[in-house]
Amino acid sequence: MTEIDCEQVLEQVWSYLDGELGENAYIEIQAHLAECAGCGPKYEFQRKLFTLVEQKCKEGPIPVELKQRLFRLLEG
Ligand SMILES: [Zn+2]
Repeated sequence: MTEIDCEQVLEQVWSYLDGELGENAYIEIQAHLAECAGCGPKYEFQRKLFTLVEQKCKEGPIPVELKQRLFRLLEG
């Protein structure tokens, strides 16, 4: 198993999708997602959401505000 836990993975999943993470963090998350039954479906959901938002924000990077709003939505 990897050293990061589910919470950390899900916190960083958008940075992961965005390609903002360093190589080590990227590999850790990738490994965790491959092994963790709990994070798998959540990651899939986030990935679809990310793709959707990205399509809507083609002119520039995804606004941090929008990200935070979506995260709050998902947590609630
Ligand atoms: Zn997990």
